Amino acid sequence: MRSLPENPIVSEEALLTGMVFNIQRYSTEDGPGIRTTIFLKGCPMSCPWCHNPEGMSPRPELVWYDVRCIAAQDCLKVCPQNALTLTPQGMLIDRDKCDACGLCEEACPAAALEVIGKRRTVDEVVEEALRDKVFYEKSNGGVTLSGGEPGLWFEFAMELMRRLGEEGVHVALDTCGGISSEKFRHLVEKADLILFDLKVMDEEKHAQYTGIELEKVLDNARWLGSTGKPVWVRTPIIPGYTDDEDNIRKIANFIKVNMPNLERYDLLAFNNTCVGKYERLNRIFAMADQPLLSRKEMERLKEVAIAEGLEPVHWSGATRLEKEA
Ligand code: SF4
Ligand code: SF4
Repeated sequence: MRSLPENPIVSEEALLTGMVFNIQRYSTEDGPGIRTTIFLKGCPMSCPWCHNPEGMSPRPELVWYDVRCIAAQDCLKVCPQNALTLTPQGMLIDRDKCDACGLCEEACPAAALEVIGKRRTVDEVVEEALRDKVFYEKSNGGVTLSGGEPGLWFEFAMELMRRLGEEGVHVALDTCGGISSEKFRHLVEKADLILFDLKVMDEEKHAQYTGIELEKVLDNARWLGSTGKPVWVRTPIIPGYTDDEDNIRKIANFIKVNMPNLERYDLLAFNNTCVGKYERLNRIFAMADQPLLSRKEMERLKEVAIAEGLEPVHWSGATRLEKEA
């Protein structure tokens, strides 16, 4: 049990923290209108195409930006763990030693080191989100909780949604659906809109790609479908993983049968602009050289979903240039 400060007007709920790795203002891709998207760190899934690799681990992680580094070496002097080595090839971060204390980030005069993921209180996040309330009101926007998977910070997410609701702010929950049904249901009840991912309808492939059982996700999706809560379902279209017509047909059919509350279905085209993020985290991105999809391929998949009876269906994202036939 946390000890409370003496000031009695500060509630324990207000002191709840979540590991936030980004707060993106003026976002237009995470729900309707102009939004602020709060990205929480940690995800139960491990999709090889993940566009936010810095959101996969729930722990803070140090990254180094080579283009900013001026080799001042102040970071090396302050590190209590001796976790940094500057070599001609770049900064080596011993991730077994580094505890993300942030001393090197503070010491660097060129902002070349950054700890991704900071503990933020509900109060801090609410205060930041409310700065743009006037934009939410004018555009029918609001705040979106995303990640990673916001459900991994359950108490924080619940309290954040409650507080934003009190302020009259529309709240969307962007979830992978791979969390316990109990937590999922509480979270859904607090949100105004659910952005729900359905990626792969083959059980074996789903487990292989994401590390989570498909049935767990589908159970949550079915229950969500019974609530009447507005839902946008989203499928990342990943070459070789999710982009076959049969997969989209099965997803669309599942939605048609189980989710009458669907407001729109989104197909999100793969892109590899996250390569640098993987490099900075010293992780391998297996899809770094994967070409983009074409407009024609995205249009084709959209038609498949429409043919199964879904509407409206949108697709978005960068596509590769096609030569004229
Ligand atoms: S569910 Fe989303 S955030 Fe989680 S690993 Fe997959 S792509 Fe990344
Ligand atoms: S975050 Fe702390 S432990 Fe990690 S490299 Fe920097 S100073 Fe060392």
